[in-house]
Amino acid sequence: MKYSAAIDLGGTNIGIGIVSEEGELVFKYSVPVEDNKNPEALLEQMAKGTLDTIAAAGMEVSDIAFVGIGIPGVCRSNKGPVILAPNINWHNVDAVPFLEERIGLPVLLGNDADCAAMGEYYAGAGKQYQSLIMITLGTGVGGGVVIDGKLFPGCNGFGGEFGHIPLVHGGVKCGCGKHGCFEVYGSANALKRETREMAEQHPESLIWEMCEGNLDNIGGRTAFDAADQGDETGKAIVEQYISYLADGISGIVNIFRPEVVVLGGGVSNQGASLLDPLNEKVAKLCYANETIEAPKVVKATLGNSAGIIGAGLLGF
Ligand SMILES: [Zn+2]
Repeated sequence: MKYSAAIDLGGTNIGIGIVSEEGELVFKYSVPVEDNKNPEALLEQMAKGTLDTIAAAGMEVSDIAFVGIGIPGVCRSNKGPVILAPNINWHNVDAVPFLEERIGLPVLLGNDADCAAMGEYYAGAGKQYQSLIMITLGTGVGGGVVIDGKLFPGCNGFGGEFGHIPLVHGGVKCGCGKHGCFEVYGSANALKRETREMAEQHPESLIWEMCEGNLDNIGGRTAFDAADQGDETGKAIVEQYISYLADGISGIVNIFRPEVVVLGGGVSNQGASLLDPLNEKVAKLCYANETIEAPKVVKATLGNSAGIIGAGLLGF
């Protein structure tokens, strides 16, 4: 059995693991980012963390085939450079030569959402399919496309940015500077914003009770919980949110026609109360839905480990 070391690089934490060629995460370790303002300090911390993890797993550097890294940004190729990773302040950082010299192993980079898609494809919800789209609903909306075992990176690695599909003409302003992106209607943050706005218009809603009179306590589950208890405002928020998700997802399906769509991120934990109505809407919106069945939207199964497992599979 061959093994890789894998890094899931976030803005606040570095997840480091040992992954088998079959996609099993055999050892996992996490450290807080010490300095996200200085790329060199972060690279130094990543190199040290990798060597420490290999040792802590009871392995030698020579037992490891390569180091795979999921980057929260865009890489020109899997050898870099990292063109842009705003959360860690990286602009044109040539990470690979630095890390290869410090660690003494080949290093491969991938976008973190792409790595999560690879993880789900090989070891999670996409295991029995040839093609998969992964969509992660979190602070934003991220995604990855895997076709016949390979990622579709797009030109210069800028492909698969599902969060920035224009969904609503002249809509809410997005973090990317444009208006009406899928992300500002489909992310967990968007759901919280909608819940808050609707609660303000509906003082009779159960939402007020659920957040103890303080709208700052609203979470991604609040509207779903209210809807479950029969609250009309909660039901309207959930219905609208799922409609936006269905619009975005069916658009993506019409372009790539994957065999399955895998949903990740905290919102996907809503389970059937999200997935059943979502699948119903997506099935109706997809092209030629009366002739050919639309792909199923299913929940990711690897949770937070998808990214690190996918990074660990980059070279296998
Ligand atoms: Zn955008």
